[in-house]
Amino acid sequence: MLEPTNNKYQLSLMSNSPNLVKVAVPIPLRRLFDYQYQDSQKPMIGGRVLVPFGRQQLVGYVIGFSEESDYDLKKIKHIVKVIDQESLLDKELFNFIQWSAQYYQHPIGEVFNACLPSLIGKGEIAQLEPEYFWQLTNEGEKAQPKSNAVKQIALLKLAQSHQSYLTQETLKAHEFVPGDLKSLINNGWLTKEIKPLDTGFTQPKVLPSTFEPNKEQHQAIAQIFAKKAQFQPFLLDGVTSSGKTEVYLRAITHQLEAGKQTLVLVPEIGLTPQTIQRFKERFHSNISMLHSGMTDKQRLNEWLKAKQGLTSIIIGTRSALFTPFKDLGLIVIDEEHDLSFKQQEGFRYSARDLALVRANNLNIPIIMGSATPSIESQYNVSNGRFERLTLSRRAGNAKAPHSKIFDVRQRPLNEGISKPLREHIESHLAKGQQCLVFLNRRGFAPSILCHDCGWIAECNRCDRNMTYHQQLKRLHCHHCDRQVFLPKQCPSCQSDQLLPIGLGTERLAEALSSMFPKHKVIRVDRDSTRRKDSMQNIVEEIKRGEADIIVGTQMLAKGHHFPNLTLVAVIDIDGCLFSADFRATERTAQLLTQVAGRAGRGEANGEIVIQSHHPDHPLLVNLFTQNYQQLSEQMLQERKTANLPPYSAQVLIRSQATNLAKPMEFLQDMANILNQYPQLEVYGPYPAPMIKRAGKMRAQLLLQASDKQTIQKILNAALPVIEEQKSAKNVRWSIDVDPQEVF
Ligand code: ADP
Ligand code: ZN
Ligand code: ZN
Repeated sequence: MLEPTNNKYQLSLMSNSPNLVKVAVPIPLRRLFDYQYQDSQKPMIGGRVLVPFGRQQLVGYVIGFSEESDYDLKKIKHIVKVIDQESLLDKELFNFIQWSAQYYQHPIGEVFNACLPSLIGKGEIAQLEPEYFWQLTNEGEKAQPKSNAVKQIALLKLAQSHQSYLTQETLKAHEFVPGDLKSLINNGWLTKEIKPLDTGFTQPKVLPSTFEPNKEQHQAIAQIFAKKAQFQPFLLDGVTSSGKTEVYLRAITHQLEAGKQTLVLVPEIGLTPQTIQRFKERFHSNISMLHSGMTDKQRLNEWLKAKQGLTSIIIGTRSALFTPFKDLGLIVIDEEHDLSFKQQEGFRYSARDLALVRANNLNIPIIMGSATPSIESQYNVSNGRFERLTLSRRAGNAKAPHSKIFDVRQRPLNEGISKPLREHIESHLAKGQQCLVFLNRRGFAPSILCHDCGWIAECNRCDRNMTYHQQLKRLHCHHCDRQVFLPKQCPSCQSDQLLPIGLGTERLAEALSSMFPKHKVIRVDRDSTRRKDSMQNIVEEIKRGEADIIVGTQMLAKGHHFPNLTLVAVIDIDGCLFSADFRATERTAQLLTQVAGRAGRGEANGEIVIQSHHPDHPLLVNLFTQNYQQLSEQMLQERKTANLPPYSAQVLIRSQATNLAKPMEFLQDMANILNQYPQLEVYGPYPAPMIKRAGKMRAQLLLQASDKQTIQKILNAALPVIEEQKSAKNVRWSIDVDPQEVF
């Protein structure tokens, strides 16, 4: 490693002025590194270089040139090679990524790697490659492979069921690799073809909508249109099923007609197949979907296509925000309140907040839609930064659902279900309607207890119980992913009386199946939808009416439209009503409103039933006597009174090591440094609410100031000193600017 020297070398004065370049190297240090280069191989700003680093060679990003260095010139190494002959990133994206790294106080080299396709970070040439697909030949259509050629038969079937061709994506989804096709190609059953690059952008085809926008939609569309070529954030505040998607589609149409691209950010692509489908149906132009099922190569290709303007609509999850564009005209963020827009590890950024910055840089409009807008966005409406567009009624004929709270105190519960709830489910089923039973806890039971000695199955790496998954016969820690088989006997007293305690979705689904033996129960949670496309298949099944009772977690709260679903029953929300996190109220109100929004989206009236041991809890009462909008105004007022974000700014420092003393010591050193700044309030250090996780002991320090700029300035000044602390060497630590979860 290079050591700084005391005197600066005034290199420009020397006869042989060296060529120095500042490089962002993907390592966890908040600084740039100097390298020399030869005249014959001048790197490009915003392009990549291969550099020696310690004993390895790393791909780095060129940030700028320099004529002087803080280091001894003799010790400054030469770059190995220039990877990009021209800039990989245009100025806008290049500056945006750097700004993001600075704002979130994350090492710049790591930020580049986190923002760009993984192959870019590996030094792959950034060139659009043709995509291949495999076409079934006439012989292939009639082929009769030997009966023991299982793979060949499966592949032929697959091709036949996919319009006689196989794409790389289809292969991957069914766990095949291109190499598996060799014998079929040799037999003349398949041919390898090049997929033509889509060029439809020049003439995007927009299919007409089947309905006219209603008055409120019309108003929203007109307001967006009025600012179609300037920076303006819009909060599209529309109750569930009010037709927000239709507003997006029309706004995008205007951009397409102007020859501009649109970026659409969604919480999770796999969870919202219906929304995606509606985009595809409306726009027969080149939509690019960035999702986790893609190969690295495909992801790079989509990235390059967007950069060259070959795709007009890019739909993706949070990291799609860092896509390069030829001419971006609009950003849409669907379900803007969703926590998944915040990256919770590594480069901890908020895609929603950064999208505003990017839209501002590009001077384009941005639409953030939600039925339950975040408190931050409500605040931005109240201070005039956002324009609110309201859709207050359900579109079409659907009416707002009725709601009831069932007091379950002292009432017998059968597997979590009270008698009145059971009767409610019965009556909806009798009318041929579907019911959603919501429980935000997957697995069979949240813990296992020994009836004889009281032993509880705890994770030995975390301060939490292990969840019992009956189908897999396993105990699973949902915090560190540790899995073990359920022991046959109690490890403490050898008793075989091991009882599952509490209720998870697996157990609830089983209980409902035996309560309603004539009806089909389907479970929707992370476990039942692990396979690719399974969410899509389940959603289709529900829509076709093949399931009567749907047991689900919050996965089902997102944007689904089931016209025949009329009852939403919330089994157990009490745990969410009492939490130390000041954001808990907001999250619970959002979750309940979203889940409730699944009921009665068709012609029949919907109903929502919530079981609670705290039926008088103000959150529950307010949620049903007022609407979310009124409730969130109250929450905003409470934040103001307590001087909490968005009325102040916070940064959370997390630290961990194998024993708690080390992170506490480091955070104390940090607190001592930060306490010198009177504008900053420093809380802690204190042990994290969950001290032990994945075998590490954790502590944290919370910083608060009046506004984001103040906290930024202080961190910029203090971090170099903090990083040099001896105690910093003993721990892992991270900075979370604008944290969304404080544990
Ligand atoms: P949201 O995104 O607000 O939850 P959607 O855009 O999914 O709502 O709309 C809900 C349903 O209403 C969809 O089936 C949609 O096709 C339909 N819809 C939207 N706007 C209208 C309209 N103006 N007239 C009739 N139906 C509409
Ligand atoms: Zn025991
Ligand atoms: Zn664990």
